[in-house]
Amino acid sequence: MSAVEETDVLIVGGGPAGALLGFLLARRGIGVIVVEKQTSLERDFRGETVAAPSVVTLRRLGFGPALDAHGFLRTEGVTMRMEGRRVMHVDYRRFALGEVPVDIPQPALIAMFSDAAAEFPTFEYRFGTSFTGLLRDGDAVTGARLRRRDGSTSEVRARLVVGADGRFSKVRHAAGITADVQHMARDFLSFKLPRPADWGLQAELVVDRDRHLVVLPTFPDFLRVGHNLPKRGLGALRAAGFEPFKAGIMALDPRLAPVVAEHLNSWDDTSFLEIFTAEVPEWTRDGLVLIGDASHTCTPILGQGVNLAIQDAVVIAPVIADALSTAGPVPAAAFTGFVTERRRHKAHVTSFQRLQEKALATGSTPGVLLRRARYRLLDALPLKYRIFGGVLNAPHGIDPADLAVAAGGSRPGLGV
Ligand SMILES: Cc1cc2nc3c(=O)[nH]c(=O)nc-3n(C[C@H](O)[C@H](O)[C@H](O)COP(=O)(O)OP(=O)(O)OC[C@H]3O[C@@H](n4cnc5c(N)ncnc54)[C@H](O)[C@@H]3O)c2cc1C
Repeated sequence: MSAVEETDVLIVGGGPAGALLGFLLARRGIGVIVVEKQTSLERDFRGETVAAPSVVTLRRLGFGPALDAHGFLRTEGVTMRMEGRRVMHVDYRRFALGEVPVDIPQPALIAMFSDAAAEFPTFEYRFGTSFTGLLRDGDAVTGARLRRRDGSTSEVRARLVVGADGRFSKVRHAAGITADVQHMARDFLSFKLPRPADWGLQAELVVDRDRHLVVLPTFPDFLRVGHNLPKRGLGALRAAGFEPFKAGIMALDPRLAPVVAEHLNSWDDTSFLEIFTAEVPEWTRDGLVLIGDASHTCTPILGQGVNLAIQDAVVIAPVIADALSTAGPVPAAAFTGFVTERRRHKAHVTSFQRLQEKALATGSTPGVLLRRARYRLLDALPLKYRIFGGVLNAPHGIDPADLAVAAGGSRPGLGV
């Protein structure tokens, strides 16, 4: 017999979206249980870049002191090199936002949210607890079935279940919502290297015909390098051998050759990322809403996934608080405005990412020449700051109630 519990909101998935939303709801006195299937935050490597608008948001919510206490790297700009020549540079410090993207390990970011939330008696973050199915009353979702690592099961009844369980969301699947998955032409293999002392704090995109490296300064003293490979090309790459792979990286960017030679030792040092975008036609049911990667998955270009997750949490928190003021499961209609607003932001990001990926996948000589000319032209125009700013710095709103609490400095755990 499963144990049965009750709460206002059950959040499935303790990633950036779920953990931040849990904090924002608990701070409003709402009962929240966040369940996370991993047993600790030191999970698989995840994205570490937090885009500038989310840095602004986190500071406005009161997380500035926690961010500063942990430490992070500021990414000052992005430089593109094509076939050995520098073709474009965007200086992030020229945007009027007052913040640049920062690099901080995702476990540390999530711990900031859940540690702050743990100060509220209505909040609980449960590790090692997996979602296994939805509870329903007619068409409405009324809670979820859970299983712990020790095999014990339970049911949590909630007025709202939030699916924040990432790109392969089981909540989404259980709700009968099918994602439209669009595979990109290429996938990614990534690895970390010590950052050479003279590397600087620029992100770099190093392109040679249809091969490229994304090189990101990573906290505290690493570079994160992503290398594209053809779709389903991992087997062939591995079959060709590790040394040729290594030699290919060194040839693409000779500046990396010494650290690659010394520190990239086997396939175990690399991790594979399948690149796709996923459009999700419906984000809601009565009693259920999807946020973060579960509702929209983007590619790693310009590090927007965490940004979208954070913005989802910030925008939806007041909507949930309002909707809970009436009895029963939160109706799907309560989220109409949220879905419209967040879809617009996400569509903007993914359409830019698709354009960029298409340009990078070009391998023919005329295509490569045209691409280089286009990026050079763009580099010469102030328009580049409008184009990049539109994607990197998309506006977002924070509910004044969230700001008021932060400004009041009454929250424990954040040092404000
Ligand atoms: C290799 C890699 C590099 C990336 N780089 C960047 C980057 O630099 N910048 C950036 O902005 N984005 C990056 N991204 C994307 C970014 O990590 C995601 O967009 C972001 O983490 C989404 O947050 P989320 O909370 O929606 O989902 P997730 O971070 O995926 O969190 C979902 C959570 O749900 C849990 N979960 C899943 N199933 C269940 C279940 N059944 N029961 C309970 N819990 C469950 C998972 O364990 C996970 O902790 C990267 C992604 C990858 C894979």
